[in-house]
Amino acid sequence: MQNFAQYADWAYLIGAILFILTLRGLSSPTTAVAGNRYGMIGMALAVAATFFVAPNPAMLLIIGAMVLGAVIGLYRARTVPMTQMPETVAMMHSLVGMSAVLIAVAAVLNPDTNFSTVFRFELFIGCFVGAITFTASVIAWGKLSAKLAAKPLKGFWVKPTQAILFLAMLGFGAHYFMADSLQSFLIMTAIALVFGYFWIAPIGGGDMPVVVSLLNSLSGWAAAGIGFTLSNSMLIIAGSLVGSSGAILSYIMCKAMNRSLLNVLFGGFGASAAAAGAEGDGVEKNYKSGSAEDAAFMMANADSVVIVPGYGLAQARAQNAVKELATVLKEQGVTVRYAIHPVAGRMPGHMNVLLAEADVPYEDVCEMEEINSDFASTDVVLVIGANDVVNPAAKDDPTSPIYGMPILEANRARTIMVIKRSMSPGYAGLDNDLFYMDKTMMIFGDAKKVLEEMVKGVTGGGH
Ligand code: NDP
Repeated sequence: MQNFAQYADWAYLIGAILFILTLRGLSSPTTAVAGNRYGMIGMALAVAATFFVAPNPAMLLIIGAMVLGAVIGLYRARTVPMTQMPETVAMMHSLVGMSAVLIAVAAVLNPDTNFSTVFRFELFIGCFVGAITFTASVIAWGKLSAKLAAKPLKGFWVKPTQAILFLAMLGFGAHYFMADSLQSFLIMTAIALVFGYFWIAPIGGGDMPVVVSLLNSLSGWAAAGIGFTLSNSMLIIAGSLVGSSGAILSYIMCKAMNRSLLNVLFGGFGASAAAAGAEGDGVEKNYKSGSAEDAAFMMANADSVVIVPGYGLAQARAQNAVKELATVLKEQGVTVRYAIHPVAGRMPGHMNVLLAEADVPYEDVCEMEEINSDFASTDVVLVIGANDVVNPAAKDDPTSPIYGMPILEANRARTIMVIKRSMSPGYAGLDNDLFYMDKTMMIFGDAKKVLEEMVKGVTGGGH
C-alpha cells in the first residue's frame, strides 16, 4: 500500500482543484449541481488517498465508522425539510469541531509524536478553535431547532465571564506551548468547550444564521490547523477554503442587514429591535384587505408582476404554488419575475433554493440590484411572506433599527399586494408602513392556501 503513497500528493492536488471548482460552481444556480458533483468527487478522492498515506490504517474501524456516518448522513439529507437546513448545518459544524479536538488530543497522547515547538503551536490553536466550534455549534443547533431557549443569556456577569474564560484558555494554552504540560493542554480544551457555550448563549436565536456561518468559517480554520498537525496538505487547503468562504458569507450577511459582525456577536439586536417595534407610535393605522380572488383578477389584467418572496414562503412551503401562479399568469400574457433580497428568509440563498426546488426558470429570478430600478414601472408587486426586506423605514426613517439596510423597493410599484397571516411584524420585530399605503392590499392567510386560491382565480378569468 505504501507504494501508492507517492500518488497521494497528486490525488490531493486534483482534489484541491475540484474543491475550488466546487466553490466556483456553487456561485450560480445554473452551475450549482455540477459544483456539488465536483465537491463529491474531490472528497471521495481525498478520503481514498488518505487510506494510502496513513501508516497503519485500522481498516475495519475506519470503514465501519464511514458506513455508519454515510447511513446517518443519507437518511438526514433525504428527510430534512428545507426550513431545518440552518440547524442541520450547525450540527455538522459541531462534528468538524469535535474531530479537530479528538485529533489534537490523540496526537498529544500519542507517545510517538515528535513535539516540536511549531507542532505544539498548531495543536494548541487547532484544538481550542475546534472545541469552541463544537460547543458553540451545539448551542446554535439547540436554539435554531427550539430545543434550547432562543432567548439570549443576559446579565452584567456575562461579559466578564466570557473575558475570564477566554484569558484562562489562552493562559493554559500558552503554558502547554511553553512547558509541554499535558495537564495544561487538557484544561485549555475543557475551558474552550465551556467558553463556546458562554460565547453563543448571549446571542438571540434570530442571529443564529450569521453565527452558523461564522462557525462554518471557524470549523474550516480548525480543520486547516489540524491539517498542519497531520502534515496533510488536502486538509489545509480544504480547511482554508471553508474558513475563508464562511468568513466572506458572514460578511455578506452582515452587510445585507447593515450591521457589523461585532454588533451581531455582542449587540443583542433581536431584543432591542423587538422592543422598539412593540412600542410603536400608539396611533391606530388603517389598512385595506382583499380576497385572493380580487388579487388574482388584478394580476391577470396587469402587464407586469414582480413577486417578492420572504420567510413566510418557506414557512408555508408554498414554492410550488407560487410557480404555478406564475405559470398561469404567463399564460395570460403577464410578464412575471421574482425579486430576491440577499437576506430574505432565514439563511443565505434561502429563496433561491426554494425557487430552484420548484423549477422556477433562473432567468425569471432577479437579484435586488438588478430589479430595484424596475419597481416604479411595475403594475403589481406581490409580496409573499416577506416583511423586513420590503420595509421602507430602512430607507426613510433614520430612527429605525434597520435604517440603512438595503431593501427591495416594492413601495414604488403601482399596486402592492401582501400575503401574510396577520399584521404581526417579521424577524426584526418592526411595524411596516408598506402595509398601510393607499395602494396596498393585504390578503390574509397562509401563503400556500392563498396562492392556490389565486391560481383558481386566474384560471377562471383574465385578459
Ligand atoms: P420577515 O421575518 O421579515 O417576515 C416574514 C413574514 O412572513 C412575517 O411577517 C409573517 O407574518 C409572514 N409569515 C410567516 N409564516 C407565514 C405563512 N405560513 N404564510 C404567510 N405569511 C407568513 O422575513 P423576510 O424574509 O422579509 O426578512 C428576513 C429577515 O430575517 C430579515 O430581517 C433578515 O435580516 C433576517 N435574517 C435573515 C438571514 C438570512 O440569511 N436570510 C439571516 C439572519 C437574519 P405573519 O406572522 O403575519 O404571517
